[in-house]
Amino acid sequence: MRHYCVGVLLLVVLVILSCQTQPEQEVITPSFNAERAFSYLEAQVKFGPRVPGSPEHGLCRDYITRHISKGAKVLQTQEFPIDCFDEPARGTNIVAGFGNEIAPAIVLACHWDTRPIANLDPDLENRDKPIPGANDGASGVAVLLELANQFAEKPPPRRVYLVFFDAEDAGDYRDCDWCLGSQYFAMNIDTVFSSLPAFGVVIDMIGDKDLSLPKEVNSQAAAPDVLRHVWGVAERLGYKQFESKMGPSIFDDHIWLNRAGIPTIDIIDFDYLPWHTMGDDVDKCSKESLKAVGDVLYALVYEKHNL
Ligand SMILES: [Zn+2]
Repeated sequence: MRHYCVGVLLLVVLVILSCQTQPEQEVITPSFNAERAFSYLEAQVKFGPRVPGSPEHGLCRDYITRHISKGAKVLQTQEFPIDCFDEPARGTNIVAGFGNEIAPAIVLACHWDTRPIANLDPDLENRDKPIPGANDGASGVAVLLELANQFAEKPPPRRVYLVFFDAEDAGDYRDCDWCLGSQYFAMNIDTVFSSLPAFGVVIDMIGDKDLSLPKEVNSQAAAPDVLRHVWGVAERLGYKQFESKMGPSIFDDHIWLNRAGIPTIDIIDFDYLPWHTMGDDVDKCSKESLKAVGDVLYALVYEKHNL
């Protein structure tokens, strides 16, 4: 009898313990292929600078479109006239929807153009040259192109839109003359979505070898729940590049998505010495950095949550 009581007690304790250790949400192991993503970063840099209006820009536009058209359920391009450092050019945003049309959708975005002038280069002679844009341009695209492979193979549980903005770096911080692609996108949001996506994540300059991702101020203000969740996923996956401290306030493509009514955060490493210099090249980037961001976005898409 006594043994029987102890046995029952032990069983009750075990049941309670097992209930307490149940995870609150479904957890998956991300399988983002960083080797392949890095090869996409290199391929873009190989085209040359992707300055709006240049032939290299056209090559990269076709490269992105060809790549994502394989698994996308919907594909849309938006063309618009721009002034890129006072030169008239045409910009192109590329939008691809993956997975079943289950709302509300998720938006993952980056910019694919590169800056026409290396205005912060220490060498004065370089300052009117276009930058290679390995980190500032190619890194975000590389991560989204690899996610497109994953989405094509294993459709996301709800609709995910990959958005490649053009002309982010087409101006010099006067009168909103940069982030032109996302601005155009926000102004014409009704032509893309029949109902607004639940939230968005912009990634920019996330390839830096020495990656540090503090929380961005405008993201915290506009989409605190998204920011908390994404940083929580990163912490669980052990990616210390996502830091709990606040970083600077940045005007990036997420501002226009927020103005269009989509709560959006910006994942960005602004602490990058070769920023807007000829030094922004492949050797400053690493596949480990792409992996950290790619895995976090992968988990964000495939895991259940309340966002
Ligand atoms: Zn830039």
